Amino acid sequence: MAEMFHEEDADLAPIQSKTVAVIGYGSQGHAHALNLRDSGVNVVVGLREGSASIAKAEEAGLTVKSVADAVKEGDLVTILAPDQVQAALYNEVIEPNLKPGAALLFAHGFNIHFDYIKPAAGHDVIMVAPKGPGHVVRREFEAGRGVPVLVCVEQDASGEAWPLVLSYAKALGGLRAGAIKTSFREETETDLFGEQDVLCGGLSRLITTGFEVLTEAGYQPEMAYFEVCHEMKMIVDLIYEGGISKQRWSISDTAEYGDYVSGPRVIDEHVKQNMKAVLSDIQDGTFARRFMEDQAAGAPEFKKLRAEGEKHPIEATGRKIRALFSWGDEVKDADYHEGS
Ligand code: NAD
Ligand code: MG
Ligand code: MG
Ligand code: MG
Ligand code: MG
Ligand code: MG
Repeated sequence: MAEMFHEEDADLAPIQSKTVAVIGYGSQGHAHALNLRDSGVNVVVGLREGSASIAKAEEAGLTVKSVADAVKEGDLVTILAPDQVQAALYNEVIEPNLKPGAALLFAHGFNIHFDYIKPAAGHDVIMVAPKGPGHVVRREFEAGRGVPVLVCVEQDASGEAWPLVLSYAKALGGLRAGAIKTSFREETETDLFGEQDVLCGGLSRLITTGFEVLTEAGYQPEMAYFEVCHEMKMIVDLIYEGGISKQRWSISDTAEYGDYVSGPRVIDEHVKQNMKAVLSDIQDGTFARRFMEDQAAGAPEFKKLRAEGEKHPIEATGRKIRALFSWGDEVKDADYHEGS
């Protein structure tokens, strides 16, 4: 069984006695900076000169400095720039300005596990990885709740890395839900597997393939959108609340029988073999290398694939359908611009 931690297992004192430099103010960065600040932690945000995030962080009442100056003040440095820029940022700006004994905190183990960042021996290297998008981490915190987090320690230079990582997780709101103890290797490989095979890659492909099959068979795209995309949220909400069993309890017997007899025809043994091949590419670093090499070349493959994804007919249909609903206004993320 996984070891779990809750509110009573951590003290805010270790993190409240430190200055935390949060590098990056994107999805995770804004949530970490604001939740920690609201938990009574001294936070300074480090951003590049000219970054569009500077004004946003300042408007939220945060202190913003250059990455170098923020790092110089940090007893703990949280690295929340995109994974693909972290190594260069670390080598060029963070490491030369790091206080002796400063702790380094990550929200994903990619750069440490695949050795793109190699911190010197004197620094605690720790992780608090929320199991949810940054905007939900902030939203839940403001609602008095929390998103579960993974916690781990790669390097315990101070001998106090565990109380520190739990203190940070508590300030972030993660212990309101609970933390699971893991390792950088396990977090990195399972996170990449989850997003590639199931949550992002698998699901996006399942939805768009279903949409293609229905529309190619002559059904109206609006109908196809409702069936294979819109209803997904309600099904997933039921699974989230009570597992696959609760979902099967709520759907009709017709739907439940179809689940049993047709699910295995769609997600068959080939799919399992494909998932294993993807896992193997994650484990041996093949995926990490492909991603980092493409990024280093200016991300030509990434940009091409993103542009192709945005052109899929389901997106135009979805925009039209979603505009009909009032819930389009309920959840607003200021940074998200549809179709951009
Ligand atoms: P993001 O792309 O949303 O934001 C990154 C931010 O870093 C930018 O907004 C910008 O402020 C800053 N930045 C970009 N380039 C920079 C540079 N060269 N120098 C300094 N700052 C720079 O990133 P994200 O999705 O929040 O990911 C940050 C980390 O959190 C990653 O390690 C990621 O794997 C991890 N993570 C993200 C999520 C998520 O919800 N998106 C969930 C769990 C873990
Ligand atoms: Mg992103
Ligand atoms: Mg993840
Ligand atoms: Mg991830
Ligand atoms: Mg239906
Ligand atoms: Mg039923």
